[in-house]
Amino acid sequence: MPGSNPPPKNCPVCKEKIWDDDNWSNNWERYRTHLNTVHPEFASWDSKTPSLYGLTTAFFFGVAAVMAFQFQSNIMAAYSLISWVIAITALTAFRSRGIHRFRAQWNEEHGAPVNPV
Ligand SMILES: [Zn+2]
Repeated sequence: MPGSNPPPKNCPVCKEKIWDDDNWSNNWERYRTHLNTVHPEFASWDSKTPSLYGLTTAFFFGVAAVMAFQFQSNIMAAYSLISWVIAITALTAFRSRGIHRFRAQWNEEHGAPVNPV
């Protein structure tokens, strides 16, 4: 997200250095521009994941709230929150597998990075 967290300094796909501490201004803009121009497929895939996290979180917290307040069931509410943790973990694994896939495809087409990080 633009703002508090800086983007990765190196491209997650081709490992090219996008920004460093000397030129950190507009680092999110540099990052997005790099992805949109060099890896448009990855950019559109990557832009979907934050909303997946948001939807998953909203869904499980919604269920937990209904269980706690509507059905007065703290155990079911706790199960919902545990399911949320599992779902987020699965999403994160899914996401890192996706990044791995894009990187493997890039390396196949362009050769492995000269200086793997
Ligand atoms: Zn790249």
